[in-house]
Amino acid sequence: LMFGKARTCNIVTVPEHEPSECNIVILGANGSGKSDLQEVCLSPAALTVKFLTKRFISEYDPNLDTYSSEEVVDQQPVLVKVMDTADQDGPVNCERYLGWANAFIIVYSIDNRTSFEACQQYLEAVTLYSKGLQPEGPVILLGNKVDMERYRQVSKADGAALALRFGCLFFEVSACLDFLSVQQIFHEAVREVRRE
Ligand code: GDP
Ligand code: MG
Repeated sequence: LMFGKARTCNIVTVPEHEPSECNIVILGANGSGKSDLQEVCLSPAALTVKFLTKRFISEYDPNLDTYSSEEVVDQQPVLVKVMDTADQDGPVNCERYLGWANAFIIVYSIDNRTSFEACQQYLEAVTLYSKGLQPEGPVILLGNKVDMERYRQVSKADGAALALRFGCLFFEVSACLDFLSVQQIFHEAVREVRRE
């Protein structure tokens, strides 16, 4: 009988530690090191499988791709997705990825003044986009390539001043030399998202 009394009870197993998710988008001028940062930001374990987890957001938009990795930040698991962008002309038509992001990392190269000046445009675009949104989403200004100290064109004070103007966090790092610091910055973004 189809509707007999003896119904079987489905036992639904819910994973004990369902990781929350955190979407981070990396913005900035060409050559500032976004793609390198995306590659080193995740755990070494994730790096070894990066070719398996790299995903293009849409087959039709090769300028957007993500890496995903299950990270542990402050003993709490979190699925971190990091999107690399490659807009040629600054933040044009950026709604397509701003809406996806929980946090923003805006990168320049300390040895390239022009890349620093481009950051202001990205900061304005992100600020404008997230105005009125709840939560607004943390923003990190990141000076990359500190290993190029000899060729520095942007002082640390300039970076800090720009960050202060936009009320965002500020770090300097080297995507080439300091993997652990890079990872810490992405973890800091996760912490900020959790605080909201
Ligand atoms: P994108 O255009 O922002 O994605 O920049 P890429 O990630 O392609 O980096 C541009 C160039 O800068 C590449 O040759 C990278 O290897 C180099 N690069 C990236 N990060 C660093 C860094 O921390 N130090 C140095 N010296 N070079 C870097
Ligand atoms: Mg790139």
